[in-house]
Amino acid sequence: ARKTDDGGIVVIGLGRFGSHLADALTKLDHEVLAVDRNQERVQHWSDRLDRVVQADATEEDVLRQLGVADFRRAVVALGASVEASVLTVLALTELGVPQIWARANSEKHAKILGAVGAHHVIFPEAETGERVAHLIVSKMLDFIEFGDDFAIAKVRVPEGMVGRPLRELAADRYGVQVIGAKLPGERFRHAEPDIVLQKESVLIVEGGTVQVQRFAALA
Ligand code: ADP
Repeated sequence: ARKTDDGGIVVIGLGRFGSHLADALTKLDHEVLAVDRNQERVQHWSDRLDRVVQADATEEDVLRQLGVADFRRAVVALGASVEASVLTVLALTELGVPQIWARANSEKHAKILGAVGAHHVIFPEAETGERVAHLIVSKMLDFIEFGDDFAIAKVRVPEGMVGRPLRELAADRYGVQVIGAKLPGERFRHAEPDIVLQKESVLIVEGGTVQVQRFAALA
């Protein structure tokens, strides 16, 4: 398959997070070089990913020999070891990789990663935990919060709107905007005013976090 020609992505660490990430990037048609020091992990993933190599990513010279300096992006997906993740980010910085993403376990860890050159720091467990908490206590089907109290959610159609066109749904009264709609068996599309909502329809709404949650509760 022809890959998206954007310089490829190095994924370091094939634990639960890194392996899902590498798999998703591959499915998105990006060239992925995956690195893990554990031979079993490497063997396991070499069937599914294009290039998997066994190496200690904290070693700058090893990364250089693997051609990591030619990649535009790298993700340090190491979990448990703060030392290994910091040393790996440092090695990638020394190699001049233009975009370094790194996974942090804590705010302090994140600060150190930034100080040694990470451009983006991610907190997968914290972010997922927070998102799932919202899903559990609300009727939202999916939810992303962007900070500054702004969110986008996937919600069911409010009771009383079934059989009526979207234009009659006074979403702005609740402080949200409907931006997309999906009728049963169809794909999502832009929120055109004449879409007639059905029982199993799903909406995408944007607005303040509390407003979005209140809107979801109308279903
Ligand atoms: P997760 O929480 O995503 O499962 P883990 O910390 O369990 O994360 O897994 C991290 C992965 O990173 C493991 O597969 C481990 O073998 C690998 N790893 C740890 N240190 C290094 C290193 N220095 N170089 C390359 N891979 C490493």
